[in-house]
Amino acid sequence: MPQFDMILLTPQQAEGAEILEHTAGKPVREGGGDETHRCGACKTKLMINVAHRDVHGVVIQCGKCGRLNTEAHHHHHH
Ligand SMILES: [Zn+2]
Repeated sequence: MPQFDMILLTPQQAEGAEILEHTAGKPVREGGGDETHRCGACKTKLMINVAHRDVHGVVIQCGKCGRLNTEAHHHHHH
């Protein structure tokens, strides 16, 4: 399964985005696909086995290090 390190955002860059709060030890989302996305700073797994459509455009605040992350790859499949 593909695994991605997410891109870190500054709070300014994340302004206006819907921010999902991650809790350490528990992925924000799990299941529905085959992509695993990790925090770009501390490599904590934020989303496990999710579909790409569930990742697109989301911003996640890592519950471990507190950094803001967004999807790593911006190409479009469809
Ligand atoms: Zn982190």
